[in-house]
Amino acid sequence: MRLALASLYGVRKSLKAGAQPRSLWWSIPVWTGAAAVLLVVALSATDHTEKHFLTKDAEHTALQYADFLAKSVPDLDRLFSQRELSQQAQVALTRNTRLGDVFRYKLFDSSGQLILTSDEIGSVTPLAAAGASRIDTQRHAGSNGYVSDIVLGGNNYIELADGREKPDRPDLYSEAYVPLMGPDGILGVIEVYVDQSARQQRIASAFTRVAATVVGLLLLAGLGIAWQSWQRLTDRRRDEEKIRYLAEHDVLSGALNRASFESVLNATAQAAGVSGEAFAIHCIDLDRFKEVNDTLGHSAGDEVLREVAARLNALHRPGDVLARLGGDEFAVLQATQNSPRDVEAHGRRIVEALARPMDIAGSRVPCGASVGAACFGIDATEINDLLHKADLAMYRSKTSGRGRFSFYDEALDSELEERRLLAIDLRTALADNALSLHYQPLFDATDSDSAVGFEALMRWTHPVHGNVPPSVFIPLAEECGQIVTLGTWAIEQACHDAVQWTDATHVAVNLSPAQFRADAPDVVAVVARVLESTGLAAERLELEITESLLISDPEKVLDSLNRLSSLGVRIAMDDFGTGYSSLSYLWRFPFNKVKIDRAFVKELEGEDKVSLIVASIVTLAHSLGMRVNAEGVETESQREALRKLGCDELQGFLLGRPAPLEASDEVDRKAA
Ligand code: C2E
Ligand code: MG
Ligand code: MG
Repeated sequence: MRLALASLYGVRKSLKAGAQPRSLWWSIPVWTGAAAVLLVVALSATDHTEKHFLTKDAEHTALQYADFLAKSVPDLDRLFSQRELSQQAQVALTRNTRLGDVFRYKLFDSSGQLILTSDEIGSVTPLAAAGASRIDTQRHAGSNGYVSDIVLGGNNYIELADGREKPDRPDLYSEAYVPLMGPDGILGVIEVYVDQSARQQRIASAFTRVAATVVGLLLLAGLGIAWQSWQRLTDRRRDEEKIRYLAEHDVLSGALNRASFESVLNATAQAAGVSGEAFAIHCIDLDRFKEVNDTLGHSAGDEVLREVAARLNALHRPGDVLARLGGDEFAVLQATQNSPRDVEAHGRRIVEALARPMDIAGSRVPCGASVGAACFGIDATEINDLLHKADLAMYRSKTSGRGRFSFYDEALDSELEERRLLAIDLRTALADNALSLHYQPLFDATDSDSAVGFEALMRWTHPVHGNVPPSVFIPLAEECGQIVTLGTWAIEQACHDAVQWTDATHVAVNLSPAQFRADAPDVVAVVARVLESTGLAAERLELEITESLLISDPEKVLDSLNRLSSLGVRIAMDDFGTGYSSLSYLWRFPFNKVKIDRAFVKELEGEDKVSLIVASIVTLAHSLGMRVNAEGVETESQREALRKLGCDELQGFLLGRPAPLEASDEVDRKAA
């Protein structure tokens, strides 16, 4: 159980730790959106950056080219001042018309007037082109900057005079305007045409690589998140499954628990209402589970429950359901059956399967089970009623000898039901002050005036049924385990009452075999404690036991009886002659008294042989040093006969009926 709770706690904790995995799924569209925005921003940034790089590159190239031109072309200032080129200058200019990425240039004077284009060098005089175009020098060669105009694509052809077209420029180029510096300052402005196709391709491929890496990383991150979400979802589903399993099943046996079994039954009942298919419930109660638990320990008990579940599961047919209703109680829903005969056959199979001994903790444990069944639609149409009736049928199997199968039977089971209800009431009888002790006087056979003692006899006044006879409630208390509590109370009450009587009278208290069992508090310790607390002299207490007590575990019982004897308490063998009457009990334990059962007394007058038996018992008891009591003396002639046969003590309605304490007080005073 602790294990089950611990694992439940573990699951709860892990669920808590996994806090709302669904939120991750919601985050995926957010993530994708963010990634898309990021991509758009990155693309526009790429475009912008590319332009920036190209501009810078064009400017740089133009500046270098201007510097180179200024240094490599002699008399360049003459071109600007006198509009003419020297021979060397023309050679230098022609040689350097195309250099690196520069494929064209134009020179403007300080007023913005075009004075030379590289295309015309050698063909026309520089001055021929003059005046064809002008620029805003203020804009292009301002005091502190140069501006490049990037031209992307566009028309790459020029039309020749004959109408044909000829390629004129590359796909991508820049026109950069930079100042042209002479030895004495700015000569003018040079417009440098820079071919940037190759550079742009390099930049583009670099950006493509970066973009591919970023997209790859984003994809990986997305996949990582999706994987994590999936993992958490499966973890959560598994935890939910586990919680559902724990909530619906008995962890020890793996069978359904009572609540979920009831809901299965309700669903089956509904389906049966529609389809008309019948089903039955078998209630199963283990016969010797308590003994296994007591003798072999709880882990062996758990092992038994697991084995029982395994054996019941092995008998399952499709649709059958197993449940553990509590303790050692199981139930089986037999899904479809054609006739009560099928139900009975299945019930008997269950009995047989559980009757086979189990190998538990190195021992062969005979467990056995009592089984009862009720059929839906025949015995009940409501689930709780059906369960109750299957339970009653099981109870009948139990009370009629265990290890058997019974069907629910209305007539028989109403009696059982009454007993069950009575057993429930008996549990609270002591607390409700419904129990009392009556005392029946015991007389010396030779003197019917003086009581030598009283037998304490328990009485139960039921709030509805009135006086319930001990022959009904004592076996009931033994069956439902109440007898130990009631028996202890009887010892306490009887001793407490007896202290008030004269010292000459003793009190006799009946003990049940259950009070000697291992699971009950040690009866010797109980008696010693009561004697001490009430102050009653030990020899004034007599304990009556029956022969049945000695059958189960004679050694252990004899040990307890010896210890009781050594306290000084007297022991009487009650109802002698009705049980097994093994004479060995008489010599193995030195009883103080033998009480001849009233069955003999009743037959005393009609049957000569009975007198002989009584006489023999008296002789035997006396020779073993025991006193003899005869119970159930109802007539004067019985009294006389018993006295003559040598009985020492007489008890019966003739001499005094069991009566409440007050009446016994009076008899006691009279005796005194
Ligand atoms: P028992 O110990 O043999 O008690 C004697 C029974 O015989 C009593 O029945 C008593 O009322 C009855 N009896 C006495 N004289 C006569 C008579 O002349 N004629 C007839 N017909 N009956 C007579 P009771 O009180 O009904 O008790 C029945 C049995 O219940 C007791 O038999 C005893 O075994 C058990 N019992 C009663 N009180 C206790 C108790 O406190 N503890 C236990 N363990 N058993 C008890
Ligand atoms: Mg008795
Ligand atoms: Mg008796």
